[in-house]
Amino acid sequence: MDFDYSPEQLELIRVFREFGQTEFTPGKVLQWRRDQGLPDDIARGFVDRYFSFEETDAHASSENRTMSVVSQALILEELSRCAGAALPFQNDLFNLQIIGGFADQKEFSAVLDDYRKTGRLMFSLAVSEPNAGSDTMSMQTSVKQVDGKYILNGQKTYVNNGEYSPNILVAAIDLDACGQDKYPMLTFWLVPQESDGIRAVPINKIGQSMLPFASLSFENVELDPSWRLTGNEGGFRQLFKLLEFGRVFTCASSLGMAQAAMEDAVKYARSRMAFGKPISTFQQIELMLTDMEVTLTNMRSMLYRAAYAIEKNAEDKRLAVALMKRYIPKAATEVASTAMQILGGQGYTESSRVSRIWEDCRGNQIAEGTDQIMVYIAAPLIMNKYGE
Ligand SMILES: Cc1cc2nc3c(=O)[nH]c(=O)nc-3n(C[C@H](O)[C@H](O)[C@H](O)COP(=O)(O)OP(=O)(O)OC[C@H]3O[C@@H](n4cnc5c(N)ncnc54)[C@H](O)[C@@H]3O)c2cc1C
Repeated sequence: MDFDYSPEQLELIRVFREFGQTEFTPGKVLQWRRDQGLPDDIARGFVDRYFSFEETDAHASSENRTMSVVSQALILEELSRCAGAALPFQNDLFNLQIIGGFADQKEFSAVLDDYRKTGRLMFSLAVSEPNAGSDTMSMQTSVKQVDGKYILNGQKTYVNNGEYSPNILVAAIDLDACGQDKYPMLTFWLVPQESDGIRAVPINKIGQSMLPFASLSFENVELDPSWRLTGNEGGFRQLFKLLEFGRVFTCASSLGMAQAAMEDAVKYARSRMAFGKPISTFQQIELMLTDMEVTLTNMRSMLYRAAYAIEKNAEDKRLAVALMKRYIPKAATEVASTAMQILGGQGYTESSRVSRIWEDCRGNQIAEGTDQIMVYIAAPLIMNKYGE
């Protein structure tokens, strides 16, 4: 058993920490939240650094040319820790994982090369629907051939950058496929935003404001057959496998944000005087800080364990990921909430970083599979694990 980071991982952490500390200053982060997005030079800065590790990342996936899941988790943890938010990057890395998992080499290379060149992903991802969130397989958005043309109809929600990105990667059921599979035939289409019949309406979330989301409707949108991704016909099984990467990325960000809240709480507790003493000397504050540190340690262990299980294709990876996603987002919200308590009235203002961290962490208890859905996944695996 080895609890140390490797020299390569330490270098990765160093590079992204330096990026976070120099570029993600509190004033800039506040502005980017108001703008609901990052400026071009910051997006480029991330992508340049990300690809600079392409050759040295020992566990990088040759299958889709992205970094190993452990390395990606370390990057997101570190940036979230510096900035209190790294949502646009978390989103990019997950979207890349999805397209890499469904596209063929040529389609994926075109997306990756464009991302490397521009620092911006050329598409947003449309999976969740107003009536199909947790229950992904009740998806209604569909493609059907009418008079020899492929026609798309349906609605999507929580589409990241849904109003702005030039293309939308739409998950849709192929109504003409009549396989024997118990699952409906899931397909992915890279549809230009400007196509006739697409309408986008922004969603006003209470947090995670560095990334805008939208609801999209598709009404008789005519699809070019070449827009369909053809690299993998694994459908829902493939999607569920890829969602596990998204869960690791969400938890990495949650951990980084909770760590940032801890650092703000310690700093404040040291300097804030009450009853003639720094509040850090009060036993109840010590208790809060101690419990926060215990939680952070557990979060980190679960994150690395689950990411490692995916990387090694371990037998128990599904359970490790479900337990991680069950534990980390909720624990992160609690750490952020306790940090807010330590900062007192200041913590509850819009200008305090911990209040925004709390809002962002809370959203992660719903995104990428809710706290409850993780029980739904984990419980049968636990029953199996413990046998008769
Ligand atoms: C911050 C944020 C970011 C998001 N980002 C994305 C994104 O990038 N892409 C995307 O496609 N979607 C995204 N979503 C949408 C998200 O995936 C869905 O909101 C989530 O899957 C829950 O679906 P729902 O909202 O339809 O709730 P429902 O599925 O209707 O669930 C409502 C409640 O019922 C519970 N529930 C449902 N089924 C069960 C069950 N079997 N057992 C016990 N309880 C159950 C749920 O846990 C929840 O508490 C995001 C959501 C949020 C809040």
